[in-house]
Amino acid sequence: MENHKRETPLKPRRLLLFPIPSQGHINPMLQLANILHSTGAFSSITVIHPHLNSPNPTNHPHFTFLPIPDGLSENEASTRDVVAFLSVLNRNCAGPFRDCLAELLAEEEGVACLITDAWWLFSQAVADGFGLPRIVLRTGSVASFLGFAALPLLREKGYLPKQDSQLEEPVPELPPLKVKDLPTVTTHNSENFYNLVAAMVKETKSSAGLIWNSFEDLEQSPLTKFRQEFPIPNFSIGPFHKYFSASSTSLLAHDTSSIPWLDTQPPKSVLYVSFGSVVEMGGNEFQEIAWGLADSLQPFLWVVRPGLVRGSKWLEILPNGFMEAIHGRGHIVKWAPQQEVLAHRAVGGFWTHNGWNSTLESICEGVPMICYPCFGDQMGNARYVTDVWRIGIGFESGMERGLMARTIRRLMVEREGEEMRERIMCLKEKAGVSQQEGGSSHHYLESLITYILSF
Ligand code: UDP
Repeated sequence: MENHKRETPLKPRRLLLFPIPSQGHINPMLQLANILHSTGAFSSITVIHPHLNSPNPTNHPHFTFLPIPDGLSENEASTRDVVAFLSVLNRNCAGPFRDCLAELLAEEEGVACLITDAWWLFSQAVADGFGLPRIVLRTGSVASFLGFAALPLLREKGYLPKQDSQLEEPVPELPPLKVKDLPTVTTHNSENFYNLVAAMVKETKSSAGLIWNSFEDLEQSPLTKFRQEFPIPNFSIGPFHKYFSASSTSLLAHDTSSIPWLDTQPPKSVLYVSFGSVVEMGGNEFQEIAWGLADSLQPFLWVVRPGLVRGSKWLEILPNGFMEAIHGRGHIVKWAPQQEVLAHRAVGGFWTHNGWNSTLESICEGVPMICYPCFGDQMGNARYVTDVWRIGIGFESGMERGLMARTIRRLMVEREGEEMRERIMCLKEKAGVSQQEGGSSHHYLESLITYILSF
């Protein structure tokens, strides 16, 4: 980041950041904080955050952290209904956030702008009320934003709600997506989902600008489409995590045995399996995955997050005879240092739910994927992985152990997997180039700083 260093402006400029309190949103926001801090262009960075999932301030001594009450009950905080979660979070945090901002703005140090996660739906109105510019951080892909923005049209055209008979149909309005890839979630009231998405798109449109955790060579065509449809300043400066290697933003403790175990494995032999911080599954599905891993005969490092399997504490749900069947070929942990794992020479594939952070992290380490998307933007991300970048394999026809084992072997030992590895290595290289002097992400970071300092 040295080459981004510049003179601190005479008038101190402070940045205020406001992340959504879940792992896939905190990580990119704090990575962004680090990126902006390292440019030396800003006098200080303050992170306003709900009490839930508070980041550990001792991991970030150069930032100020200001917790605000979120009023979430235990059930509300732990619900897997993301729509209900975001709705109550927005409802409860609007007042405390406004009060916090009022206090900050009364201080002597000038504030340059507010950067908030796109899912803080009240933050544009609050910023407007104080005459403060707001820039939006989108933690998902550009293509996924276009998918969200198209939902009203897609409903009008009858693609949604999804009908079983149409799942395999293409959606010409959003190539290369099929109907089954459209962003949907399981929630008790789907109308709330559509309202939430519409508000997110509207508030993003009226913001002063938008930051993408993506890069030009990866999402050229979605970025072109976005710029045609949404004429607001936007800056593709990703992939964020490559500016800073170590991740100090994990909410769960990383299991320290993962890397020493990988050290004992041959190069590119291990399949890393993780479905992120939110996905839940039933016991049958979990057991089928376990047998798929066993039958593949490949070594694997499997993250089984407590809570991954509904109604189960941790590994008691593993099928009888599983441990004997794998003959020490597998290692199971509760939470792994994912970026380090993906960068390890022993890892040759990633069985992922295709959260955007995981997808980017895999691309940046040149690790091809098995795609296992579950909800929201994950299906669309997976479609780009399999059909556009051609760096992964999806399960297009059902889920059973034989198919899983076969898919793992296609990726890990067959020519098809090797070709995907070659293609993803090219993308990895492009990601690196984008961040060097003269590269697109480097350019957009420079423009972002100039833009913020112009307020
Ligand atoms: N992650 C991790 N250890 C794990 C699994 C995930 O550190 O065992 C991190 C991963 O590196 C990524 C984030 O958690 O940065 C998950 O974000 P993503 O967008 O992929 O999925 P989400 O959890 O939001 O569904």
